[in-house]
Amino acid sequence: MSRVAVVTGGNKGIGLAIVKGLCEQFDGTVYLTARDEGRGQEAVKELNEQGCQPRFHQLDVSSLDSIHRFKQYLEQEHQGLDVLVNNAGVMYGHSKTAPLVEQVDVTMEINFFGTLNLTKVLSPLLRPHARIVNVSGGMGDLSHVTPELRQTFRSEQLTKEELVQMMEQFVSDVKSGVHEEKGWKMETVAYRVSKMGVTALSMVQQRQFDADPGADVVVNAVCPGWSRTDMGGASAGRSVEKVCLGTHLS
Ligand code: NDP
Repeated sequence: MSRVAVVTGGNKGIGLAIVKGLCEQFDGTVYLTARDEGRGQEAVKELNEQGCQPRFHQLDVSSLDSIHRFKQYLEQEHQGLDVLVNNAGVMYGHSKTAPLVEQVDVTMEINFFGTLNLTKVLSPLLRPHARIVNVSGGMGDLSHVTPELRQTFRSEQLTKEELVQMMEQFVSDVKSGVHEEKGWKMETVAYRVSKMGVTALSMVQQRQFDADPGADVVVNAVCPGWSRTDMGGASAGRSVEKVCLGTHLS
């Protein structure tokens, strides 16, 4: 049975580099997924020209319909999944002028809830020894929040339901204009909180898998480091080829 790896947001940047790396090193079928079919197919073509043969499937992590379509496809085509790289992400940089409420809605929907929902839906397909890699980020480091929030994020008793409730409360606090007094006072708050959530989620997911003796699944949160992509910008220190996915955050 051929092993299967899936990368979200694989059409450019770090995701594309991960797909390429997997095509070169992973013994199995590699899926480049992208929310936009055209951009995804273009990326596959680019990799084909470099001797890599990923397969393509549309996947928008912010759409439950798209997630379920992909799950059904994987189930029929492969009956399982061995590697899931939750890479898709967005960040509104300093130059973006969208209202904060919109920034928080979009960023949380993709970065945090997209990672949460995709993993939840695909989990029944995970085979023994499966690996999940959640691409988080150093900007989600907890030094920016109050000691109370920090303690909650780090608690070994934190459940998925409590984390989701905390993230939903953050979104709601932004809408009510009270997030700063609730302890979420920082620049680039939407992105930072989404990544705090992703790192904490990775630890919660690992605890859940560990509680299931048959699961044998490893979840890691990683920070690729500041990298030259559309998100990272041209002044970033490292090229995507040099991206180090070995920096564990959980
Ligand atoms: P890019 O902006 O270059 O690429 C982001 C990718 O995510 C694109 O393929 C984009 O698709 C995709 N994406 C966005 N929304 C969705 C969605 N709803 N469904 C599916 N795919 C989606 O960013 P990077 O490559 O730099 O970032 C990759 C990951 O690494 C992100 O999670 C980011 O937060 C993280 N990271 C990046 C750092 C950096 O310095 N670059 C540093 C630390 C972490 P589309 O082309 O359609 O927009």
